[in-house]
Amino acid sequence: MNKDRLIFSGPSRAGWHRLDTFLRCPRRYAMNQSHQSDMGEALVRGILVHQGLAHYYALQKDPTAELYDPRRAMHEVAYWMNEEKPNDLWQKWADHLETMPDQYALKWAGQENSWEIVGVEEEMGVRIQDPAYDTSYIYTQRADLVIRHKHTGLYHIVDHKTAGYAPPQVHRRYSMSGQFVGYSWLGKLKWGKEFGGVILNVIQVPTLHKDPTYIFARPALEPTPRAVQDFKNTILHAERGIAKLRLDVGHESTDAANWPAVYGEGPPCLGPYAPCPFREHCRGS
Ligand code: SF4
Repeated sequence: MNKDRLIFSGPSRAGWHRLDTFLRCPRRYAMNQSHQSDMGEALVRGILVHQGLAHYYALQKDPTAELYDPRRAMHEVAYWMNEEKPNDLWQKWADHLETMPDQYALKWAGQENSWEIVGVEEEMGVRIQDPAYDTSYIYTQRADLVIRHKHTGLYHIVDHKTAGYAPPQVHRRYSMSGQFVGYSWLGKLKWGKEFGGVILNVIQVPTLHKDPTYIFARPALEPTPRAVQDFKNTILHAERGIAKLRLDVGHESTDAANWPAVYGEGPPCLGPYAPCPFREHCRGS
């Protein structure tokens, strides 16, 4: 494998997921920082689909780029990840997703001429000053795809979402998620009135045991102006909370188990896809 021919950017440096976890359960946040969790099926599937689509769009942006084609890119990453942390899901999912790039291209071939591709796997970020505590925090998110619509001239952030089943109203679930409010906030900061919003790029992928027939959809998310306006305060609230607990409880791996727990009836202790990986720790024996 030639790693120079792979785009493998990983998560952004200081994104929403970390803060979201803290706001849901401080202990889970601290435990995440100090324990490596196993990669489940949804994560493996999501990483490989993102890999394939990153190559698909990077090669559209620059057809001369020396990159693996989308299918090969998924296989190479599966091989590499399996070497790092053996898990037979990598190979199984790389095989299962073989036809995804061609089916995706077929579905959207007619529409993508209306876009100019601006960026692929682009990290966006901002430094937030916190005068109350005389400090600052960095906040970043990685945009799967940034496009500019040729007709309207507006910039859009496109987020690839994989799901085993995506109901028709899936976009309503995501529009108030911090990840997407964060995209809108960063988009407004970067492009102002030329920012047109966030588009969800849904890739419904059947499970490993079913025939790989896909459903693709691209709903635009509803605007959330109030949430976007508030978002900086949400980040400050979470960062201050983390800083305070680090002082109060400590931040060594041995301290993580003592961060305050939120014993939820459903999430965050259970679901939506799997129980919290630290459930047995919190339950005790
Ligand atoms: S099991 Fe519940 S309380 Fe314990 S870390 Fe997980 S989310 Fe928090």
